[in-house]
Amino acid sequence: MSGSSASHLLPTYARVDLAFERGEGVWLTATNGQRYLDFTSGVAVNALGHAHPALVEAISEQVKKTLHVSNLYRIPEAEKIAARLCELTFADLVFFCNSGAEAMEGAIKTARRYHAANGQPERFRIVTFEGAFHGRTLATLAATGNKKYLDGFGPVLEGFDQVPLGDLDAVKKAVTPETAAILIEPIQGEGGVRVVEPSFLRELRALCDERGMLLIFDEVQTGVGRTGELFAYQRVGVTPDIMSLAKALGGGFPIGAFLVTAEAGKGMTAGLHGSTFGGNPLAMAAAGAVLDVVLGDGFLEQVRQNGLLLKQKLASIKDRFPSVIAEVRGEGLLVGLRAVVPAGDLVDALRAENMITVAAGENVVRLLPPLIISAAEIAEAVTRIERACVRLQGTAR
Ligand SMILES: *Cc1c(COP(=O)(O)O)cnc(C)c1O
Repeated sequence: MSGSSASHLLPTYARVDLAFERGEGVWLTATNGQRYLDFTSGVAVNALGHAHPALVEAISEQVKKTLHVSNLYRIPEAEKIAARLCELTFADLVFFCNSGAEAMEGAIKTARRYHAANGQPERFRIVTFEGAFHGRTLATLAATGNKKYLDGFGPVLEGFDQVPLGDLDAVKKAVTPETAAILIEPIQGEGGVRVVEPSFLRELRALCDERGMLLIFDEVQTGVGRTGELFAYQRVGVTPDIMSLAKALGGGFPIGAFLVTAEAGKGMTAGLHGSTFGGNPLAMAAAGAVLDVVLGDGFLEQVRQNGLLLKQKLASIKDRFPSVIAEVRGEGLLVGLRAVVPAGDLVDALRAENMITVAAGENVVRLLPPLIISAAEIAEAVTRIERACVRLQGTAR
């Protein structure tokens, strides 16, 4: 089929007519020559911003050696990153894949397999939460439970029981002798930056321990520094048995991973799971560079401080523009503005101020700057948000 102007990309995204050709730090330059302040970071991916020298260097050096080798052989680069992740977390074992949905698929399989290995294959059900997002594959969609995303794709994969977020009684009612695990995002990202109460996570941990269930944290969005801790579970002090990662882990290079304790991973033996590209040396080089920077002296402290600074300034904007912003929420640099106007209008008004953001559930606009952002750049963002609010206030009534 010919035709040059019409896109041949399957139209599953309602795209904005704007394209970026290069970036530097927190700035993106569009093909129209204009510069945009990036408060999307490729949806929580570009943790080091754009063209970070350490990431560029690590990837460039690895490209000269090997891009890909098979998992039929040892991959020292993957062994090294896995060892680092285990050193930094509760985990003993890591499986590398290429995206968040794949990481979640593996986490779900691991939880089911754990009980099968214990002689209880009937324990395959997983309790999940309303407003969750776990990916777009058939299993992760079933876990996500969003009817709009499931419609027309045939029978929904059996085995997910969804309950309201924060409702412990509902969780207890949903748990049966067939329940294998509870799956939760410590902060719901796509759901609208909904911060889960630490006490609720503690109660889930206790319930899992009591009933022999596994606790799975989906940290695909919250992980790798976004909340001001390396992982969100470390902020709340509740440790999962399985954790999924992706987004920021490669700083823009596609990578996913799930981490498990030796006990939770005991069902996953040779031949039971795989990924051709998983753990390839190029992805590992990217992850190594991201970890080096994020674990550098004072980096996470800076994320926490900048997160507080941003939230303080936003709180004052909220007070001055109550017809535009209803609430500021989030942790670290995972910040949500619950809007009074339609969230999409606020995203559009911010884009008109050359600042890009991303909408989420509950009429929230997510602010996801690169983690390397400076206080001066935050001040610049705040000025643009104020101007967008002035723009919208005029139209609000
Ligand atoms: C983005 C996201 C996913 C899915 O990741 P993909 O790489 O798009 O497959 C899963 N869980 C959470 C919490 C996410 O934010």
